[in-house]
Amino acid sequence: MVEFVMPVATGITLVEVVGVEAVLPECQACQKGDLVPLSDFGAHGAPIHYKAWVCTNPNCGFNIKIRNGDVYLNEPIVSGEDHAPRTR
Ligand SMILES: [Zn+2]
Repeated sequence: MVEFVMPVATGITLVEVVGVEAVLPECQACQKGDLVPLSDFGAHGAPIHYKAWVCTNPNCGFNIKIRNGDVYLNEPIVSGEDHAPRTR
């Protein structure tokens, strides 16, 4: 896991702010990857923050997401190679 610390100068004191990557929960399914939050956009362009959490381990693929108030576990992940870009 990449851990980065960003120094932020606040007047005379130097406060270290730990990046969000450092607090990602460990994947409980494989114990190797981290769960990263993914955001999406709604039908009218409204952002849907942290709609899905996905494991960073490609051999694991554990994911959990919420849709219309229901929580979905381990839905199949679409490979980017087969995914045709959306035409507008
Ligand atoms: Zn995992």
